[in-house]
Amino acid sequence: MRFRDIIGQQQIKNKLIQTVLDQRVSHAQLFFGPEGNEKLALAIAYAQFINCTRKMLPEGGTSFAEIDSCGICPSCIKFQKLIHPDLHFIYPIAKTKTIKKDKLKSLDFIEDWRIFLTQNDYHVTLHEWYELIGIENKQGIINKDDCREIISTLSYKSYESEYKVMVIWMAEKFNYSAAPTILKILEEPPEKTLFILISEDPEQIISTIRSRTLLVKIPKITTKDMNEYLLAKHQCEEREAGIIARQSAGNLKLALNRLQNIEEDLYNFTTFRSWMRLCFSAKVADLISFSTDIARIGRENQKSFFLYALKVIQSCIAVGHDHEELVFSDGEELNFIKSFSVYINLSNVVAFSELFNNAMYHIERNAYPQTLFLDVSLQAARIFKETYKK
Ligand SMILES: [Zn+2]
Repeated sequence: MRFRDIIGQQQIKNKLIQTVLDQRVSHAQLFFGPEGNEKLALAIAYAQFINCTRKMLPEGGTSFAEIDSCGICPSCIKFQKLIHPDLHFIYPIAKTKTIKKDKLKSLDFIEDWRIFLTQNDYHVTLHEWYELIGIENKQGIINKDDCREIISTLSYKSYESEYKVMVIWMAEKFNYSAAPTILKILEEPPEKTLFILISEDPEQIISTIRSRTLLVKIPKITTKDMNEYLLAKHQCEEREAGIIARQSAGNLKLALNRLQNIEEDLYNFTTFRSWMRLCFSAKVADLISFSTDIARIGRENQKSFFLYALKVIQSCIAVGHDHEELVFSDGEELNFIKSFSVYINLSNVVAFSELFNNAMYHIERNAYPQTLFLDVSLQAARIFKETYKK
């Protein structure tokens, strides 16, 4: 992770870089701020920068935005794979179905952790972590055994780099019984050791631990930075990027979820439109191949498709009764709703609504999707026929 891979936060990056240039890196720092603001990514980028052997440094007119780790030296490569022997992680854990031993340590989950971070581009939440390791109904903690592990890990000299780095994610999850152990090492840290604690709720951190750290407030991502990121990395249209950037209020996770929904909505829209055309013209052979295709998209997506179908027929009724303000669509989708509203009216809306609701009910109860979609398609064709082709 390099500083340039992180959205915005230039002021914080400058401050962190300056601590390295001035050789005054505090040994225990607490990065805190709201969810979805790249705290964890910043911590890793900072650690990678400190240990990079070919870091770009200011010369002549170099601006801070250009100063970064090199990304290609052996240290950077290991940092990017999260396998550097001097980079250590502690995070909340609990016993799972597969890992049940008594003295549980973060290291027992390290493979999951690496995959979790790299596959999600370091945009992660505590809930997602619990879900991944299968403890979503329990509370994870940072336990005493993990803190003892910290002491033994850090008591050795660093293997390859200048600094040994211990990243402690979600420091609010320190268990009270673990406090004395971690306090001892925070007070008397081995030389060239850097602790970066990360928290979304620093008030919940045991106060004696918090007071031994340098507080580094990481603000939420600005709307401008989010907007630029969506345009550059996700090829959003300008209008779409603007709306998502404003609605996500600086939370990258929210922005990415919203983006995913937009893609899902687009799939639902184009699929629903062609499906309705096939149903209206009762093209049975085409409806069979439609059912085969949509059977493959998975139950959650199939439910989302029927929810979308319900939204469209309700929008059609609103348009048909001059209440376009109740329709939350625009562009091509709105044009479709307007033309489709001619075919959806009070004589068939209840039948369609029941049809789609029943379909969702059966999907939840594991109906065989191909048969279900063909049946729903034929019933939709019948409803159109009864309404228009008498
Ligand atoms: Zn490097």
